[in-house]
Amino acid sequence: MRIVVPIKQVPETSAVRMDEATGTMIREGVEAIVNPLDLFAIEAALRLRESGGGQVTVISMGPPKAAKALREAIAMGADSGVLLSDKAFAGADTWATGLVLAEAIRQLGPFDLVICGERATDGDTGQVGPGIASFLDLPVATYVSRIVSVADGVARVHRLVEDGYEVLDVDTPAVLTVVKEVADPRLPTLRGKQRAKAADLPVWGAAQLNLPADAVGLAGSPTRVVNIFLPKVARQCEKFPAADEAGIAQAADRVVALLKERALL
Ligand SMILES: Cc1cc2nc3c(=O)[nH]c(=O)nc-3n(C[C@H](O)[C@H](O)[C@H](O)COP(=O)(O)OP(=O)(O)OC[C@H]3O[C@@H](n4cnc5c(N)ncnc54)[C@H](O)[C@@H]3O)c2cc1C
Repeated sequence: MRIVVPIKQVPETSAVRMDEATGTMIREGVEAIVNPLDLFAIEAALRLRESGGGQVTVISMGPPKAAKALREAIAMGADSGVLLSDKAFAGADTWATGLVLAEAIRQLGPFDLVICGERATDGDTGQVGPGIASFLDLPVATYVSRIVSVADGVARVHRLVEDGYEVLDVDTPAVLTVVKEVADPRLPTLRGKQRAKAADLPVWGAAQLNLPADAVGLAGSPTRVVNIFLPKVARQCEKFPAADEAGIAQAADRVVALLKERALL
């Protein structure tokens, strides 16, 4: 079975800071790590390979330092990695990111599954996985909490839904985005770290992917950040002090009247 896992390098903080003037994230001075939710995707892929054989390839679109994320995945057990890095990729929105990842996956050759994380902890849209599926014209199952089996061109998965889970058969090749429940990520081994250090990581740019410069990066991104602001939460508050039974009854009447005024009762 051939599995591709797209992984993103993200800042090691949940408090992502934005440059209000340019509308981009401030990445300087923040340690970069593998998107924590992608570790579950890597683990799910490794377990499938361990049970059914095959190859796990990790890919990442990012600056040259994103190679570190690929090496971490190889240290966990991935077989190979490809870095998608080009100045032309800078400023990509989820559309342009999905396009580059999809073209890279196409060029890697036949595969059975693409396994993405649920979402990246910085951009946080959860759009890239379904975007890849759309560019490759493949079925997609999101919020996958268990991969039951992959055999005879069908992946049986459990999808988390609001009141439980859904059992779904998806024709392969397919794209899955997985949630934490899918598998607990393993730690890299010393041997894995040594292999990762020595691993050859090809770097592909727009030319290798046969993508014109105006289809990638900021030029190929239909999304524009027009304004960034912290939402102001303003609450109107009315207190009903109730010291005795009569006061409680009065307060209750007032609450009921207020709810009716607002058509909430
Ligand atoms: C106008 C605009 C400008 C932007 N400019 C920049 C910028 O200059 N620099 C910048 O870093 N970001 C920029 N962003 C953010 C960037 O678009 C997103 O971070 C990126 O497209 C991925 O989306 P996401 O983080 O929401 O990923 P999600 O959709 O939440 O990620 C889901 C999954 O997709 C996969 N994935 C996502 N991104 C990658 C990746 N790069 N490589 C491999 N796998 C991946 C992972 O498996 C991940 O778990 C910009 C966004 C907009 C709208």
